[in-house]
Amino acid sequence: MDEDLALADRLLALVTPQGDLDDDFGAGRIEIVAACERVIAAARALQLEQTRALLRQREQQVEGTTAGLSVIGEVAMARNVSPSAGETMLRAALTLRDMPAVTDALRTGAIGEPTARAILREVSHLDVDDTQQVDTALAEHLPRLTPRRATELTRELVVAVDHEAAELRADSARAEQYVSVHADADGTATLVAHGPAELVTAAGRALEAWADGARSTGDPRTHGQVQLQTLVERVTGSDRPEHADVEIGIVIDAATLLGASNAPTELVGHGPVAPSVADQIIGRAHRLFYRRLVTDPVDGSLVARDPRRRRFDGPLAAHLRARDRHRCRQPGCDCRIRDLDHVTAHADGGPTTAANGQGLCKRSHTLKHLPGWSTTTRPDGTVAWRTPTGHVYESPVPALPGRLAHRLVP
Ligand SMILES: [Zn+2]
Repeated sequence: MDEDLALADRLLALVTPQGDLDDDFGAGRIEIVAACERVIAAARALQLEQTRALLRQREQQVEGTTAGLSVIGEVAMARNVSPSAGETMLRAALTLRDMPAVTDALRTGAIGEPTARAILREVSHLDVDDTQQVDTALAEHLPRLTPRRATELTRELVVAVDHEAAELRADSARAEQYVSVHADADGTATLVAHGPAELVTAAGRALEAWADGARSTGDPRTHGQVQLQTLVERVTGSDRPEHADVEIGIVIDAATLLGASNAPTELVGHGPVAPSVADQIIGRAHRLFYRRLVTDPVDGSLVARDPRRRRFDGPLAAHLRARDRHRCRQPGCDCRIRDLDHVTAHADGGPTTAANGQGLCKRSHTLKHLPGWSTTTRPDGTVAWRTPTGHVYESPVPALPGRLAHRLVP
């Protein structure tokens, strides 16, 4: 690890010019900024090339799909990003194999990493021949191409190269429809609805018209408040949706529960919120479950009982999910927990206890059981992930809500 950091320092020293950087209105500093940009692009090109080479190597050692999965997980953990980011990287690496001009431009820093990513996104559905044609046609336009211009130009070329493929792509893009919720700060969240433009636009216009109407008849709420509240009422079919029978878990530490502390509490899946916001939500909810997550011996013994059973369920399952803060324990992965996993397999004598349990997303669960992968627990609850190359990545138990803040707020 320290050697990696030293390597990065040495690289940066190479692009840092000697002399007085305060001279010439800071011209030397601009040189460094520009050089760093080229280093980032070149490093990304090298990273992609090595990812591709690793896949070739793995394919000779293990079966096809398993090799790909393993490489996705290995590069993700090396970069401390999620497996889905690892997959995006592997796909990019494979596409770049058919794009020598773009690869060269990235390696020499003629284009930045965002530009390369924009190009790769547009050609992702093309076959090898068409990808190569687009690469050739792009070549002369590449130097200093911005991401936005790269998207437009590549899109034009893609349509020119294969009209039918472009239509197919539009069809599949329009078929990709979803609604998702993202937690934001201060007890707020964002609802995203993605799909065919005419459908989403129709919904947006209807809310707009509703808000205009309400405001013109003296509704004191803001335009946005009418829109949001109308949307929620229509979708839930209730004009008091906040009173609905919703299960809200609050992870809270004992001192806060007793009113003895102003440390932030946590709305499960929403991150830290101020106690007053938690109070509002608690006050409105129809049904509510408090899940106290504390390190007292009573709770400790509760979750430790009956280690011989096979599955994590009941209070133990709830405890594991809360302890892991509902996020996958694979290092770098922030996906929501889907499975509860025995760190040491039940078949190998691993007990069904909190100490031997971890919450994982589907993909990380699959990765963990691939050939050459293993996990072990340390006495402090840290889970060590070992990959086929022998690299070990640590996943400490997430800090309890309020713990960090206690250190800041006396
Ligand atoms: Zn995961």
